[in-house]
Amino acid sequence: MNFGTALRSWSTFHQPNAKSSDRESKFFTFDYSGCGNVVQAALTERLQDWEMFPRYPFSEQEQDAIQRHYSMGQWSHSPCGGGIHFDRVVCPVCDRQFLFSYGIHEPNNGLLLLTVEGVVEIN
Ligand SMILES: [Zn+2]
Repeated sequence: MNFGTALRSWSTFHQPNAKSSDRESKFFTFDYSGCGNVVQAALTERLQDWEMFPRYPFSEQEQDAIQRHYSMGQWSHSPCGGGIHFDRVVCPVCDRQFLFSYGIHEPNNGLLLLTVEGVVEIN
């Protein structure tokens, strides 16, 4: 896995983008200048359907590359303090792939917050 330009970098300053009590679906969108398209990732179901969204939907080798890229250990947390999750998001126009990372943490009993931490081009 090769990493290109980061469109969003990990930071402890990111604010939550979705919470489990949201009544409407939340999305994270970003402009991809490579093709001029707006790429979108659904957020709300990531707080509801755990089995649909494993933390690492990647091969072991890719997972190692991701952990090296973000200088993580196996048990590292997300910058938001919760568990870190990864996914592959694809631009529907040019098929460019992005590594999408987000943290899920539970500040209060039963309330889950999702914070988008990173978006980086991959190939
Ligand atoms: Zn594109």
